[in-house]
Amino acid sequence: MNKIVIFTTLIGVSTFTLAQAESAHQHGVANVNIAISKQALVIELDTPADNVLGFEHEPRTEQQKQHLSDTLLLLNRADSLFNIPSSAECKVQQVKIENPFAHEEHAEDEHDEHAKNTHEEHETHSDFEILYTYDCQHQLSNINMAGLFKHFPNFITLKVQWVNENKQSAKTVTKKDNQVNFNE
Ligand SMILES: [Zn+2]
Repeated sequence: MNKIVIFTTLIGVSTFTLAQAESAHQHGVANVNIAISKQALVIELDTPADNVLGFEHEPRTEQQKQHLSDTLLLLNRADSLFNIPSSAECKVQQVKIENPFAHEEHAEDEHDEHAKNTHEEHETHSDFEILYTYDCQHQLSNINMAGLFKHFPNFITLKVQWVNENKQSAKTVTKKDNQVNFNE
């Protein structure tokens, strides 16, 4: 629940009522929440580590550590993953990656508790949460996600939920049907 509150605050939409999908951990599947409000666009990608990294355990070998760092770099490149019409003139403001293998102390107490509670789960499964924040000059008509499937072939299905000032809807995005339209 906390996550959705933070998300809502970020975007400044008080009527953000998207049902928070039970984030069941399923390989091949990821949740994408998109919120558009005035000039702000926020895309949240919540995915099993397997989809982007190919494994879910602590990286052990040099090769695995290198692969993790390459993956983080790629996840940071919003423009390669989400294709946004240039007419909207959107600029990436921030990319925030919650990397399950990062060992920094978390600032929030709640987070620490959460980490403790789910520690055992972490042994076998782990997830990335990435928040992309953009600033757009014009109305956004669509986002194409072909790049996500191209760079991370383990993605099969993206469960996309979106909300803008007029509407909210959902779409199951796949490699072949890879665009979310906001004017439909
Ligand atoms: Zn898993």
